[in-house]
Amino acid sequence: MFVLNPAGILPGMLFEQILYMLAPHECMACAAEGNLLCVACRNDLIPIESSCYSCHCATSSFAVCSVCRRASSLESVRVLGWYQGLLKDLINRVKFERAQAGADVLADLLLKSFSGETHNFQIVPIPTTPRRQRQRGYDQAKLIAKRYAKKAQLPYRDILQRSGTRRQLGASRQERLRQLQGVFSVRGRKNDLMTPVLLVDDVVTTGATIEEAAHTLRARGFHRVSALLVAQTKPLDFLQ
Ligand SMILES: [Zn+2]
Ligand SMILES: [Zn+2]
Repeated sequence: MFVLNPAGILPGMLFEQILYMLAPHECMACAAEGNLLCVACRNDLIPIESSCYSCHCATSSFAVCSVCRRASSLESVRVLGWYQGLLKDLINRVKFERAQAGADVLADLLLKSFSGETHNFQIVPIPTTPRRQRQRGYDQAKLIAKRYAKKAQLPYRDILQRSGTRRQLGASRQERLRQLQGVFSVRGRKNDLMTPVLLVDDVVTTGATIEEAAHTLRARGFHRVSALLVAQTKPLDFLQ
């Protein structure tokens, strides 16, 4: 039966549709039927307080603070919540199963918290590594970014390309920054440099990936770059 080895036989999205027909979604937290995360449980998620994503001092509208700004290409980094509990489960479902439904829920959650503050931006997804994208058959950050752009009625511009790197788990932020140098490039010659960019990704760990992406865009003449992320791993990662 195909369920034994779904990824090898059916493309991910088709498999997801069949799976949904066999077993409609139920809320991962309370098992209510109809959605991966029901409305009541969505309201239970505790958002991160507005702060600098790098040092976690309190700032307004998730601005990168003036100290961290000296070493950052980003103006603000909005993060929905910590990478734990329900949010972690939801992100992993987006990655490994039921990608479309999960991306839709995550985009809704982002929209609920941040739509009022992101109306001037163009949405640019941070591409997943080519290797991981081949393994999964889709790019989860793009799924989330595309849905967010559509729901918020913002231009979606898939202009960043990413080449492969050797990924070292547990590398410090400085090592990660070195590993990532030059992995992004910008597609297209007539890009809109003046509209502020909102980079979208799922999880931020050391911040090296969003910094390198922002640095690449700034070097190409984009005036203002910020980021929007679903979750952040523990602040400890920044103290290395
Ligand atoms: Zn629920
Ligand atoms: Zn800071």
